[in-house]
Amino acid sequence: MLTMEDIIRDGHPTLRKVAAEVHMPPSEEDAQILRSLLEYVINSQNPEIAYQYGLRPGIGLAAPQINVSKRMLAVHLTDDKGVLYSYALFNPKIISHSVEMAYLTSGEGCLSVDEPIPGYVPRYARITLKGINLDGEEIKLRLKGLPAICFQHEIDHLNGVMFYDHIDKQEPLKEIQGAIPIER
Ligand code: ZN
Repeated sequence: MLTMEDIIRDGHPTLRKVAAEVHMPPSEEDAQILRSLLEYVINSQNPEIAYQYGLRPGIGLAAPQINVSKRMLAVHLTDDKGVLYSYALFNPKIISHSVEMAYLTSGEGCLSVDEPIPGYVPRYARITLKGINLDGEEIKLRLKGLPAICFQHEIDHLNGVMFYDHIDKQEPLKEIQGAIPIER
């Protein structure tokens, strides 16, 4: 199982690379890596397991964060209506998005960034995303709210982008005009 020791931190060059597409069908090794990403996120939300192994809680993790520069990510979170979004995807891709933007009022955090970095991170309010799951099925997701933001954060990791790249350097907590504020 993955622990915080497997997660590379800000400043590591892999976090700034554009990750490679995963060849389909995936190798058993790639499938195992993807399973381990989802397992980390699930374990990290279990207080007993998180305490025992020193896991920092997270809702998403991308392969580059464990120093594997391939397009794979896992997300495990429950939205404000209690709906669970639990996905492990190969080659996820945003195929369309709203013009309208949204941001988390609490800002964003990242398992690869040890210190909190305050500031609003503008994201698309709604996205449609495609990807291939561990069963080899192509899935299509229409997302808004926290799930949409979480997927955009993780897909950024596949493109060498960190959440703080999007924060206004002069005024990090300036209201983003026309964007939907989302409370977590
Ligand atoms: Zn992150």
